[in-house]
Amino acid sequence: MKTVGFIGVGNMGGPMARNLLKAGIKLKAFDPAESALAAVVKAGAERVGAPADAAKGVDAVVTMLPAGPHVSDVYGGKGGVLAAVSPGTLLIDSSTIDVETARATTAKARERGLEMLDAPVSGGVGGAEAGTLTFMVGGSAEAFRRGEPLLQKMGKTIIHAGGPGNGQAAKICNNMILGISMVAVSEGFALAERLGLDAQTLFNISSKSSGQCWSMTTYCPVPGPVPTSPANRGYQPGFTAAMMAKDMKLALQASQANGATAPLCGVAASLYDLLCKSGQSGLDFSSIVLMLTGKSFPKQ
Ligand code: NAD
Repeated sequence: MKTVGFIGVGNMGGPMARNLLKAGIKLKAFDPAESALAAVVKAGAERVGAPADAAKGVDAVVTMLPAGPHVSDVYGGKGGVLAAVSPGTLLIDSSTIDVETARATTAKARERGLEMLDAPVSGGVGGAEAGTLTFMVGGSAEAFRRGEPLLQKMGKTIIHAGGPGNGQAAKICNNMILGISMVAVSEGFALAERLGLDAQTLFNISSKSSGQCWSMTTYCPVPGPVPTSPANRGYQPGFTAAMMAKDMKLALQASQANGATAPLCGVAASLYDLLCKSGQSGLDFSSIVLMLTGKSFPKQ
């Protein structure tokens, strides 16, 4: 693939687009936010004025947008990608969105004879900048075969999760586990504090015992035990509470719509929602521990 239309070049899309440019790909970029667009134009992308213009005469279109309604609009809306894209162009949406919208957008693309992948990512802004993202990919085997080399220029681990929508399904399930486990670890530290057990001591024991998990050993929510965790830099993100609240809501909606029993997802979704409503949406999601222990929040 030599030319790509990149739509949505914000915190994640910007560095992903820059990695494609570094790999020698010609880019047509669109974003309604001038500062975001200017940054990738400065790095060598061609500036275009609408999603349709980014979709014309390219080998692939990559989108990295806030949520499902943006994806529906950018692909299927008036002046959207599907109405303008050249035959044979591969479509890749890397936004985190609901499974239904991903499957419906792929179905619309197929009606026009186009292949589409849903390819949400894990790894955050740091992973986007370093080109080490994990892509969880839904779509046909043939579309995956075509898209994998392009995704490799932006990520390190590319996994085919199955048919259309399965990339989003994997992302939502993974983040549901993460969101719940962060609450569980935070409650463990909150109880330890009340019982007079030092946080470092709990960490030393629990990180080698059955309470061990990523939220404990890699992203520990209390300052001290894991020097690289956001707790040691005033809970600056990382992964914001707003993003976690969004993903937990997606997981809860998917559970309800598909009859999955997920009571802890409901509770955790309410807690992240509360954290955001208390004005902390821009802090890292691990700051949930401050809410659970009644501590004050650092300035954002
Ligand atoms: P962001 O808000 O920084 O970027 C989104 C960009 O989309 C913005 O620049 C915005 O102007 C642009 N946009 C909005 N409407 C548009 C439209 N109609 N046409 C074109 N561009 C439009 O968000 P982000 O952090 O880059 O996240 C993007 C996606 O990646 C989200 O779905 C998010 O859930 C997911 N994600 C983010 C992270 C993270 O750590 N930031 C990690 C994993 C996944």
